[in-house]
Amino acid sequence: MKAAILHPNRRNLSIENIEIPPPKPKEIQIQVKSCGVCGSDVHLVLHGHLKPNQFPCVPGHEVSGIIEKLGEEVTKFKVGDRVVLGAGTSCGRCIHCQSGRENLCSQTGVRGFDSWGGYAEFANADEKDVVRLPETIPFDIGGILADAVSTPYHAVKFRGNLQVGENALVIGSGGLGIHAVAICKSLGALEILVADIDEGSLENAKKFGATECLLLGKGENLGKKIQKMGKTVDIVLDFSGHMETVTSIFRITNRGGRIVLVGIGRSPLEIPIPFYLIERQISILGSYGSDRRALPDLISLVENGDLNLKNSITDILPLEKANEALVHLDEKIGHPIRFVLSP
Ligand SMILES: [Zn+2]
Ligand SMILES: [Zn+2]
Repeated sequence: MKAAILHPNRRNLSIENIEIPPPKPKEIQIQVKSCGVCGSDVHLVLHGHLKPNQFPCVPGHEVSGIIEKLGEEVTKFKVGDRVVLGAGTSCGRCIHCQSGRENLCSQTGVRGFDSWGGYAEFANADEKDVVRLPETIPFDIGGILADAVSTPYHAVKFRGNLQVGENALVIGSGGLGIHAVAICKSLGALEILVADIDEGSLENAKKFGATECLLLGKGENLGKKIQKMGKTVDIVLDFSGHMETVTSIFRITNRGGRIVLVGIGRSPLEIPIPFYLIERQISILGSYGSDRRALPDLISLVENGDLNLKNSITDILPLEKANEALVHLDEKIGHPIRFVLSP
């Protein structure tokens, strides 16, 4: 099959023909129809900040397609089914996996890092990580549900526990943050404030439901900026991983507020805890990936028209343009939201 491959010590992908193994007994093999290009793929390929668990590496964890082959023990699917592959992989046996919280599994992995992903004509996946995609949802939208939408959904719904009528602040409106905005809107947030250092990304955020866009200058204090506007928030979703920005927003977080950290920055977060955080009972929560609840929920929200992702796909590109997509995403050329590859 044709695949975009990362070799050791290389800062780009090469398009090559490789042999994909047949599906294992509990695996399915799909013909890939769409694979989203994520910011973490930029860190994997262009910068080398993230490392794959094996070489050669086929990236891609936002994968949708049509089932082509079944392992002999697969029971839930048939050849020809339209499906999305979950972005995370897990052992399937531990207490967390058994209770449906796969992203707490100690052997959790990411498709395209720990196994071959969707920058290829075909991909294999364990049937436990596969969800059926209805005809009404196109493959490009289906693919990005696996990470760009499900990761913020987990953060907003299951970690932040957003309630109808609450005010939200989203820090960072890239591929994940922008979908946090859309999810806050679909789950009934009243005000949705969005902060970013990039004006074009904020323009995008307006299309997804931001009620207030805050352009941050270098070193500017976000908390003070929001305080001056006379606003406070109940839930904060941080996709920046930027320590000064995160600590600045304590002052505008309401009693009972939740600060959900999703973004991982270059340097570790060292958070001073002011006493009023205790008094106001503010929670600081980590959120990583998503579990098996996210994809079925999101598929229903999209099907029912409660979550509008029509602006999510910036462009659909052939596999040969994978490197170009990564560079455009990295340099924010044209302020892309999601490029998807159609192998
Ligand atoms: Zn991703
Ligand atoms: Zn497990």
